[in-house]
Amino acid sequence: MDGRRSGDLLLPNYVGGEFVTGGTSFAKVSPVTGETLLHVAEADQATVDAAVTAARAALRGPWGAMGEGERAAVLRRVADELERRFDDLVAAEVADTGKSVAQARTLDIPRGAANFRTFADIITATPTESFTTVTASGGRALNYAVRKPVGVVAIIVPWNLPLLLLTWKVAPALACGNAVVVKPSEETPSSATVLAEVMAAAGVPDGVFNLVHGFGPGSAGEALTRHPGVDAITFTGESATGSAIMRAAADGVKAVSFELGGKNAGLVFADADLDAAVEGSVRSSFTNGGQVCLCTERIYVQRPVFEEFAARLAKRAEELAFGWPSEPATMTMPLISAKHREKVLGHYELARAEGATVLAGGGVPVFGDDRDSGSYVQPTVLTGLGRHARTMREEIFGPVCHIAPFDDEDEAFALANDSEYGLAATVWTRDVGRAHRAGARLDAGLVWVNTWFLRDLRTPFGGVKASGVGREGGTHSLHFYSELTNVCVDL
Ligand code: NAD
Repeated sequence: MDGRRSGDLLLPNYVGGEFVTGGTSFAKVSPVTGETLLHVAEADQATVDAAVTAARAALRGPWGAMGEGERAAVLRRVADELERRFDDLVAAEVADTGKSVAQARTLDIPRGAANFRTFADIITATPTESFTTVTASGGRALNYAVRKPVGVVAIIVPWNLPLLLLTWKVAPALACGNAVVVKPSEETPSSATVLAEVMAAAGVPDGVFNLVHGFGPGSAGEALTRHPGVDAITFTGESATGSAIMRAAADGVKAVSFELGGKNAGLVFADADLDAAVEGSVRSSFTNGGQVCLCTERIYVQRPVFEEFAARLAKRAEELAFGWPSEPATMTMPLISAKHREKVLGHYELARAEGATVLAGGGVPVFGDDRDSGSYVQPTVLTGLGRHARTMREEIFGPVCHIAPFDDEDEAFALANDSEYGLAATVWTRDVGRAHRAGARLDAGLVWVNTWFLRDLRTPFGGVKASGVGREGGTHSLHFYSELTNVCVDL
């Protein structure tokens, strides 16, 4: 569970109900120790073609003939099987990411089963619309919508919450009757491969769920997004990758749903419960090593409490315990790779060059053991930068936040909105009116008040501006993963 697995293992692709290897492979390295964990079979164009063909064939088979209730029963079996494989999934996710066992057990892996159960419920409980229409002759016509699958859906996801984000898309896609080809991140191939085994064990018909491993450009990701047999693409990842995928999708006029990057603001008002605001900000800036799209990288604090808040957050950042993933007290985790660590450390340097004051962290921890070859950085709290600094505008995606003061509510909302991104915002206040004004005035798809990352899977999830296109979650997912045919009958 500390990232020590057999380096000889070769993770296969899963195509048309068969686990397949062959062709090239790539190494997956532990972010905890830097050692090679296993190898992964990279899907070439022929494998991607076979996966798309298998998915198309599955739509014409028993899967395509199933009703919503039957598909919901399949989804519930998948949830049961995910729970049966709980320990394997925890081990896979901890090894690939270096996140703590405690977090994987309480957040990442339980959400996999929850996603399947939620969308099994939603697909069976959500009606389509109907209207009775008065015709020109004074008669009546009945309009009603028939919900149909979109077809073959490509699902491309990142490495930060691998199983959680993958199942967030697979579950509604299957609930709506689609067949899917999924491409997990090259950094986190393991839990997706267990999910393929889960699909087989749960009796999901061959070809309904296909898995291709590989990279983005020039590899399985690009092959999938350019594939003429793919009807829709749902993607979670960086905004720049979203742009590239949108260009690839344009040729085939494929539907896209994008959950992209963020540069999320936290607003701490002087009337807030400061204990809750400090602890909430520790979570919102440093959870998962700061590698959650929803993490807060810009915190604005009302001037009367600024000094106290800054001192307390910096102290808490320095206290976050660096344990091995299996140790219960572990509070932080490595970055996903040496390459990502270079990027984040580059931002730490840039912040200094831009004139930031480092209140906590700013470097790399020293362990005196194998973890010194891993990808750890210190949780970092910065202050002193203006709105034009790159540190204030670019997503860093590490355990880092910048704190700046503000004077009044209008200024706070303006500062929060001063970003190319618009995914999430967090507001700490005891003023009920202000809480509701924040919801209306903040340019973000998600506004949390006195909490962070509290999710109800029925609610709309997505971002504005460079943070995304469309909404998933609850019935919003059904809109993306279904086509509606309106039937008009002259009565
Ligand atoms: P990324 O964009 O580099 O990669 C995401 C996935 O896309 C990977 O599977 C990758 O192989 C694939 N990919 C890359 N280039 C591609 C291309 N040209 N064509 C097809 N596929 C391609 O993102 P990442 O570094 O894995 O993840 C971190 C990013 O994800 C951050 O920006 C973060 O904010 C974002 N994110 C957003 C959400 C959300 O819900 N909005 C959730 C989690 C992460």
